[in-house]
Amino acid sequence: MKYISTRGGGSPCTAAEAIKAGLAPDGGLFVPEATPELGGNMPEELAPLGYQERAARILTPFLTDYTAAEIKASVLAAYGGGKFDHAAVAPLQTFGDGFSVLELWHGPTSAFKDMALQLLPHLLSQALAKTREAREVVILVATSGDTGKAALEGFRDVKQTRIVVFFPDEGVSEVQRLQMVTQEGGNVAVVAVNGNFDDAQTGVKSIFNDPGFSAELGERGFLLSSANSINWGRLVPQIVYYYSAYADLVKGGRIRSGQEVNFVVPTGNFGNILAGYYAKQMGLPVGRLICAANKNNVLTDFLRTGVYDRRREFFKTMSPSMDILISSNLERLLYYATGGDTAQVSAWMSELNASGAYRVAGTPLARIQETFWSGWADESTTAKTIRAVYEHCRYLLDPHTAVAWSVAEEYRRETSDRTPLVVVSTASPFKFNHSVLAALSGPGATRGKGEFDILRELSAATGRTVPKALATLEHKPVRHRALTDKAAMADAVRDVLHIVKDN
Ligand SMILES: *Cc1c(COP(=O)(O)O)cnc(C)c1O
Repeated sequence: MKYISTRGGGSPCTAAEAIKAGLAPDGGLFVPEATPELGGNMPEELAPLGYQERAARILTPFLTDYTAAEIKASVLAAYGGGKFDHAAVAPLQTFGDGFSVLELWHGPTSAFKDMALQLLPHLLSQALAKTREAREVVILVATSGDTGKAALEGFRDVKQTRIVVFFPDEGVSEVQRLQMVTQEGGNVAVVAVNGNFDDAQTGVKSIFNDPGFSAELGERGFLLSSANSINWGRLVPQIVYYYSAYADLVKGGRIRSGQEVNFVVPTGNFGNILAGYYAKQMGLPVGRLICAANKNNVLTDFLRTGVYDRRREFFKTMSPSMDILISSNLERLLYYATGGDTAQVSAWMSELNASGAYRVAGTPLARIQETFWSGWADESTTAKTIRAVYEHCRYLLDPHTAVAWSVAEEYRRETSDRTPLVVVSTASPFKFNHSVLAALSGPGATRGKGEFDILRELSAATGRTVPKALATLEHKPVRHRALTDKAAMADAVRDVLHIVKDN
């Protein structure tokens, strides 16, 4: 299987090369030359298997330059060894009325980013060997919270890699900050930036765009890379759980094999839902993919009208991982909607860059709307949904998942479609403890309380245990105290590499 750019440049490359490069040389995203088809019996074949074996089955046709032994070793390292606190890795909870919830947050950082970031580092480290890369990869990440911690956990102590995470000093929640500054591992560094998330992100981008700095690192045996969600190595692991959820529905007798299922996905960068689109292309009986947005509803507007327009107010919401105005992975959907018209995709992306907007119409829009539906939820609806689902089902949703649940209900109200629905759940409610407790008990409920008091209170109110990795944060020693000005981030990288090299 070879990979090509959504913008038509460069020549086809292997999966290992695509994963090592991240972005295609012409600025486009890598897509497989053809999507493998797995046949109608695949869910039944998967049903008796554990998550690791399911993952190996789905990954294999995409990673044809990896050996079976390499794929097996990667999925074992990613999803085995007690890294996930649930034996099923991605368990499915079923409710009445054809509703299920796919829990993707049983990994070490309690958010769905673990599903991909536990696997990517192993695929990358094997890719380095395959491409005879002698240099050590230095992963730089700017994070507004979830990605940084998940990347740190994924890359910790992975061969031939180092990771440096920059977070805005005042811009993350206390739990998120503690998760990062207590990070263990011999190849990890965490640096607070004096500034906001944009400052941190701009700083990382300018490091990537500085050829002099890359050359300087290159001479010392380092190669800069990123782990963001446009990397094929982050997308492909996400296809697995769509198959896995379907297999569990068949196994549990909730659906007949072959029956269609709809998925409702809380969406930001369009990576998660796009993996569902790949599963559908591969032959999984997916009906509609329902894209759930928060008040930053640029995707809902796009999927309803064909107009993508980022020129709008940015809102900070209680579902911060969906506070995004440029959904990078949408470019891959445009590639498929145009039947692989790379010139058209490039033209739209240039328009987005130049003017902040583009319009899709005609056949491509019709193709998109045949599969995708979208709705969004505002803050008060999200909070009401958390409370209502807890009251009626005794099930606690985090704010991102509550957005999806609310859009699932809207979809049922507005269409006559009664196809079984899987709500994709992307974070543990304990990770967003403030918003969840305030939604359950009113805004006064969190006032003056510490993080760990709130966690204990949520646990008592719901009878669920706090994920161990969050509960133990309270007593973990702080290991990372570096703080940098936004103008000095390159120096911070120099410091980190020097210190690590002397060890
Ligand atoms: C990243 C994230 C999302 C958005 O996923 P995309 O793949 O960017 O669409 C949703 N919820 C949570 C909790 C996340 O961390």
